Amino acid sequence: MRIDLHIHSTASDGSLSPGAVVTTALAGGLHIIAIADHDTTAGVMAAQVAAEGSIHVIPALELSTYDAGAEYHVLGYYVDIANPVLVEHAGRAAGAREIRMHGMIDRLVAIGIPVTFEDVLAAAGTKPDSLGRPHLAKALLQRGHVTTVSEAFDRYIGDQGPGFVPTALITPFDAIDIIHGAGGVAVWAHPRPEALRTLLSPLVAHGLDGIECYRPRLTHADTERISATAAEAGLFVTGGSDWHGEWQGRLGDFAVERDDVSRFLDIGGI
Ligand code: AMP
Ligand code: ZN
Ligand code: FE
Ligand code: FE
Repeated sequence: MRIDLHIHSTASDGSLSPGAVVTTALAGGLHIIAIADHDTTAGVMAAQVAAEGSIHVIPALELSTYDAGAEYHVLGYYVDIANPVLVEHAGRAAGAREIRMHGMIDRLVAIGIPVTFEDVLAAAGTKPDSLGRPHLAKALLQRGHVTTVSEAFDRYIGDQGPGFVPTALITPFDAIDIIHGAGGVAVWAHPRPEALRTLLSPLVAHGLDGIECYRPRLTHADTERISATAAEAGLFVTGGSDWHGEWQGRLGDFAVERDDVSRFLDIGGI
């Protein structure tokens, strides 16, 4: 059994439509996937329809959160995608992301890097539910301001860049509440070691359910450390590629096994 619990689609900043994610995951030999787009579940149903039982698609999303000026991502799995509070949050996040995109564009224009909202939409293809920095990076590439997407992040829109504007809608604690309210389980995505030390206890006290443990390029030692931390805190672990497109390699090249994430799959009755 080959499993990937963290994949993005064109509902946010992924490069493949939900349906194409499913066919690509199938071709890559995956059996269970989760579509976990930034602040939206808009891609989940299309993926489940495309899968038609061929591959198991777990409903998920990855909530962007802020606490004391730092960004944290919280994954929600097994959520009811029709939950009103979840749907309302997704709508607010989409609006905030659009306003923030205009803010980043204004900053870039002010430092002599002309780019427009239309450029960003053109770079994104069809308008995603959740606009993000990768769409802006692609627009900067297409306008010839940079030669690679990573150069766009390094020079302009990385967290410390002159064009960066954060969106600070909710804290990780709010994210846990929203996910639980929608019947899901909350998982801390790609935690930084120093953040784990300070934020894990309060998050666990607030009901955090799991930690993302298995990821591409994470060393065996790091994986062991996170899995020990999770066991100590009574949390389950998950794993996923955080795949956005072909530039990250072939979907399916990274996979976790059932044994790695059995507690998580048991919760979903999978
Ligand atoms: P946003 O949610 O709009 O702030 O965008 C965050 C997304 O940008 C992440 O999920 C990644 O897909 C992408 N990203 C962040 N940093 C980099 C980077 N240095 N190079 C390429 N993509 C990045
Ligand atoms: Zn992303
Ligand atoms: Fe993330
Ligand atoms: Fe992600």
